[in-house]
Amino acid sequence: MQWETVIGLEVHVQLATRSKIFSGASTAFGAEPNTQACAVDLGLPGVLPVLNEQAVAMAVQFGLAVHADIAEVSVFDRKNYFYPDLPKGYQTSQMYHPIVGPGDVEITLEDGSTKRIRIHHAHLEEDAGKSLHEDFHGMTGIDLNRAGTPLLEIVSEPDMRSAKEAAAYLKAIHSIVTYLGISDGNMAEGSMRCDVNVSVRPKGQEAFGTRAEIKNVNSFRFVERAIAFEVERQIELIEDGGSVVQETRLFDPDRDETRSMRTKEEANDYRYFPCPDLLPVVLDQAYLDHLRGQLPELPADKRERFQNELGLSAYDANVISASRDMAEFFEAVHSECGDAKQAANWVQGELSGALNRENLSIANSPISARQLGELISRVLDDTINGKAAKEVFQALWNGQGESADEVIDAKGLKQVTDTGAIEAMIDQVIADSPAQVAQYRDSEPEKRGKMIGYFVGQVMKASRGTANPQQVNGLLKEKLDALL
Ligand code: ADP
Ligand code: MG
Repeated sequence: MQWETVIGLEVHVQLATRSKIFSGASTAFGAEPNTQACAVDLGLPGVLPVLNEQAVAMAVQFGLAVHADIAEVSVFDRKNYFYPDLPKGYQTSQMYHPIVGPGDVEITLEDGSTKRIRIHHAHLEEDAGKSLHEDFHGMTGIDLNRAGTPLLEIVSEPDMRSAKEAAAYLKAIHSIVTYLGISDGNMAEGSMRCDVNVSVRPKGQEAFGTRAEIKNVNSFRFVERAIAFEVERQIELIEDGGSVVQETRLFDPDRDETRSMRTKEEANDYRYFPCPDLLPVVLDQAYLDHLRGQLPELPADKRERFQNELGLSAYDANVISASRDMAEFFEAVHSECGDAKQAANWVQGELSGALNRENLSIANSPISARQLGELISRVLDDTINGKAAKEVFQALWNGQGESADEVIDAKGLKQVTDTGAIEAMIDQVIADSPAQVAQYRDSEPEKRGKMIGYFVGQVMKASRGTANPQQVNGLLKEKLDALL
């Protein structure tokens, strides 16, 4: 039996407003527990919520970015349940009239192919507080700083068919919200997390299978691992004659498995009703047009432009456009050196490698886009060879020089392209290596190409790495073959 996986995601994005969605308390991350929860966040008697206009604007911008219908009228509802981190006894959310209607997102897979994932809707709501289990023996601590932080919950249609597609979708959402600047997208700090709905069905069957919902997964990698485990669990269960029950599960990254949290029978009855303290949100066309006018170039548009106008491969265009900071850095490097392919190679290769090693973001790169662009220009105009370029890169990275030219001068890295000078070095190396020359002469012609490496190495060494490698190669071959 062949099985097909079906996945739908509910992504929670903390919006980057400075104050909360219904109060003036700060949303800054990392403060001492309970120093940023005011009477409104605690639901004390007599207080009234005031909607944060910025949260509305951010939700609308997201909607516009995913080609969604924006509701002219949206309504906040109370979702009633009891939990210690929810002192009001209800969460203010949007159940029946969400602010963002159906839309879609394009995802790119590793092979460069694309697919459209439909978004069912996105709604505004408030985050709850946090239960603290460490440091409290036999008790649970509650930190309500997070209570009232604005969330945008983005609900997809069940359009994904593999863990890879789900991760690509989550990455696409991450790119969009960080491009828009409506969230910092910091998954480690919980700024973005998702509930993963997974089911399986026999290949060819139209009806969906029963799904399990894995709550609060907070990294791209965990999404893939949770799905992989869950798919295997469900298939095994069905093949053994059992059936999947609709339930909420938790992913345990330490044991790489999902475990049941509660089944449908234990689910809450939320008794939604419109919040009497908040007016419906009414938006007019002028307001939407105003926000539309402020949208930046979005990741999908950048990707397309990088491919069509700059000639990058689908893969490169996708990797570079995924982060706005990286895309802008790349564009600055490109405008300095004029070669998109080289700019993309250096940004994804040498630069990303160095940033990863030192755990730095591209915004904090010790080497500027201008410096990198100049460095690439010096390779393109043959001032230095590839090996020297890496040395210049390292020097600029370490702050040993203001510009590529300065480093090249200071270290004497200018490439030797003078044929006479290179020939002199080659003659010397040949004279110093009689045994290797004899070996070269006596070996099969098809093996000689490989053997030439030894001589190239010696000449490069003699030039302290500055000889032009193509010239060295060509001239060496001529001279050695002349000895045959
Ligand atoms: P509910 O109303 O119970 O929350 P929804 O219909 O809103 O359920 O779906 C919630 C999420 O689950 C959506 O992202 C949706 O795409 C996904 N989903 C629904 N049915 C399935 C299924 N059979 N398999 C996988 N995902 C599903
Ligand atoms: Mg739901």
